[in-house]
Amino acid sequence: MINKSAVFDIDKIRSDFPVLSCTVYGKKLVYFDNGATTQKPKQVINAITEAYSKYYSNIHRGVHALSDISSEKYESARERIRSFINASAKEEIVFTSGTTASINLVAFSFGERYISQGDEVLISELEHHANIVPWQMMCERKDAHLRVIPVNDDGTLHLEDLDHLITEKTKIVAVSQVSNALGVIVPVKEIIEKAHEKNIPVLVDGAQGIQHGHVDVRKLDCDFYVFSGHKVYGPTGIGVLYGKREWLEEMPPCQGGGDMVERVTFEKTTYNELPFKFEAGTVNFVGAIGLATALEYIEATGMDNIVRQEADLKVYADERIKATGGIRVYGNTQNKISIISFLIDKIHPYDAGLILDKMGIAVRTGSHCAQPIMARFGIDGTIRASLCFYNTREEIDILIAGIEKVKSMML
Ligand code: PLP
Repeated sequence: MINKSAVFDIDKIRSDFPVLSCTVYGKKLVYFDNGATTQKPKQVINAITEAYSKYYSNIHRGVHALSDISSEKYESARERIRSFINASAKEEIVFTSGTTASINLVAFSFGERYISQGDEVLISELEHHANIVPWQMMCERKDAHLRVIPVNDDGTLHLEDLDHLITEKTKIVAVSQVSNALGVIVPVKEIIEKAHEKNIPVLVDGAQGIQHGHVDVRKLDCDFYVFSGHKVYGPTGIGVLYGKREWLEEMPPCQGGGDMVERVTFEKTTYNELPFKFEAGTVNFVGAIGLATALEYIEATGMDNIVRQEADLKVYADERIKATGGIRVYGNTQNKISIISFLIDKIHPYDAGLILDKMGIAVRTGSHCAQPIMARFGIDGTIRASLCFYNTREEIDILIAGIEKVKSMML
């Protein structure tokens, strides 16, 4: 498949991702569900196979050769993640099972240490459930309150409200870098600056940000940054919590077990140093190695190239979708990534998704684990086409033909 606008050799890129060449119902797969999870390049698949077939052994605990190799690869993976997001130190990189686990860790642990009755946590109306529910649970436990930055009609945050929403009671702000439901980019830097003026830390949910542009946690000056491996071309079951050392040092561990301890007696346990204090039990170290390989793949491809390719796809998809009659786009702003969330006339998104599926087109339908933002727009859900750098203009043409087919069948 030749994409004239591609900024790199798109055929070669696509050949790195085995799933992209499969067929569905006899049709060539058009994979537009990258917001839910991304496909894996063979480099990542090979790294995982190699770990299991050549040097697999549990980390940190053995004196034998294989354990040494596994431990070394795991800690090198941590270093790779550190450099990818430009954290100051490896101690600030905690491996978790994903974004959800990372946010739960912070909500619990930060909550235990810093939140008291009557305090407030500030999030936004466009958050994924993973950045709502853990805070809600913590607020219930601590008798604290959740406050919400509202969203404008175009899906952007109503930042004018920030000044009165950040009060002396606010203890932490937690916002998405990019909305998974709408694709809208959130001005997190501005939010961080405003929060820091009042010495309030900010957690950035980077689940939809890390794969679409350079992330520099030091430039951003966020206090916590979280993301999932599987959304950035890495394996499932591995994720990252970046936290500034000053916070992580103070926060108590939220899970007890092996590896997170220094000394255990029945009377008292002392905890291991960072980052191990937060990594109880056997972590998914093979996943971490796979994630590091995915980040290497991105670096070899070039994040600037990825950004340019995705920008081209976004403009083309926007033009074609808007030229198609009867479409309502949610998150109707220029300031977004290559996610298009839309409805076709009065057709239920689920029906549209089923017809598109029969044409080999994988889109996501429903509330995208973001029911509050759907409620804000008075809808149950949308059809979400989430594109990434291995997609092509030709695939967008196939989606448009699919939408016309849906219309011809349902209207
Ligand atoms: N936050 C955002 C913005 C997301 O898009 C997602 C997943 O779609 C999550 C959090 C949760 O990620 P995971 O299920 O990998 O923990």
